[in-house]
Amino acid sequence: MSARTVVIGAGASGLIAAGTAASRGSDTVVAERNARPARKVMITGKGRCNLTNDLSDLNAITANIPHGGKFLIPALSRFMPADTKKFFEDLGVELVTERGNRVFPASQKAVDIVDALDRFARRNGAKTVRGRCVAFEFGADCSVTAAVLETGERIEGDSFIICTGGLSYPATGSTGDGYALAVSAGHTIVPTRPSLVPLVTDDEAYFPLEGVSLKNVRLTLTDGHSKKPVFSEQGEMLFTARGISGPIVLSASAHFGKFPPSGYTAHINLKPALDRDTLDRRVVRDIEKYAGRSVSNALRDLLIRALIPVVLDKAGINGDINTGEFTREQRAALVSAVKDLPVRISDLGPYTEAVVTSGGVSLKEIDPRTMRSKLCPNLYFAGEVIDADAYTGGFNLQIAFSTGRLAGMSVPAELTTKG
Ligand SMILES: Cc1cc2nc3c(=O)[nH]c(=O)nc-3n(C[C@H](O)[C@H](O)[C@H](O)COP(=O)(O)OP(=O)(O)OC[C@H]3O[C@@H](n4cnc5c(N)ncnc54)[C@H](O)[C@@H]3O)c2cc1C
Repeated sequence: MSARTVVIGAGASGLIAAGTAASRGSDTVVAERNARPARKVMITGKGRCNLTNDLSDLNAITANIPHGGKFLIPALSRFMPADTKKFFEDLGVELVTERGNRVFPASQKAVDIVDALDRFARRNGAKTVRGRCVAFEFGADCSVTAAVLETGERIEGDSFIICTGGLSYPATGSTGDGYALAVSAGHTIVPTRPSLVPLVTDDEAYFPLEGVSLKNVRLTLTDGHSKKPVFSEQGEMLFTARGISGPIVLSASAHFGKFPPSGYTAHINLKPALDRDTLDRRVVRDIEKYAGRSVSNALRDLLIRALIPVVLDKAGINGDINTGEFTREQRAALVSAVKDLPVRISDLGPYTEAVVTSGGVSLKEIDPRTMRSKLCPNLYFAGEVIDADAYTGGFNLQIAFSTGRLAGMSVPAELTTKG
């Protein structure tokens, strides 16, 4: 088989890249290992698909992309969230914008986004071939000449776009094959790790808190080497059987750098709205109010019940003592624990629970204006396979759409745009 453009992977970025290349008159084939396209998109946004974030300011968008934001500016500026919205609306999908500018299909069904992407690719003439690409063949000038499928079948082409995704939720088909293909073309892979993932602790003191959720708390992540904060945000989180999760925890997970995860600590400020003095006065008031009771009892207005023994334990206070025995030093220790409950991180959650993969094909080796490899003249990349990842909120799909669109626009095609 042969085609002018060969796309590897029919996910979010692959379908938009294929449809775009085909719309420009390029004979296009997409190789997809699964029987159905875009299986991961089907489970996005808890099955509702948060397809983009309706921000119009590029800086505001890149502020939500902790890795690769600058590199992505050309791709994003050519295909912004407003373009994503118009793209799907033109394909007949009605959209709604919810809290935090998150855009969803009005039907609340991710399948409508998958069907629209599939329709876009097919309508423009892109053909899908079922098969897992396992290798490339190369010509004399290091250009790719063919994609080799697991069956041994070859797809010859003039241009190749790797859209195989990362390593997260591998059951959807993204098992990191694109990295090996990129390496075979001479590319460097920035070490990968799970991102937007729950954090694991080995501190058993937190295990009884499983299921407890907290609102309006501040989480500050410090690394074990500099002890400096690498992330700090206020919002919601929850305790799991073996760690912590929820929106601010997932965002924090994007900030694990080159050190092992076990060096990091999540510091939870349970009362960010109160400074130390105000909190101290509040504790004094509660101790007076509950005079004659146990300290543990006296904290019931300040903290949710499940947290009281954990906070007291971290402060080194026996909660059974009477409020009359509560010393100034113990009060100071309590205030410290409320303002900074340290959760020692032992690991990141697994790829099977990670919304996205951090790391991937080095951005230094890709031209951001075209998504073309700087090493291999007819090879392009789009989507999560590259070393870029964002926070939740629709930004990761927007990256897939913007880079897929740009790659599809950049491959050589015979005809000018037909729509
Ligand atoms: C549970 C979950 C929820 C998410 N929710 C959101 C959300 O609401 N909003 C958001 O913006 N992002 C969300 N994301 C992230 C988003 O889904 C991904 O970032 C995005 O799908 C990446 O697009 P992609 O095209 O790079 O990869 P994918 O969409 O993963 O597509 C890759 C495709 O390549 C195929 N493939 C892989 N290897 C080969 C091979 N060797 N040969 C042939 N085919 C191959 C795969 O089968 C797959 O179809 C979520 C992710 C998860 C896991």
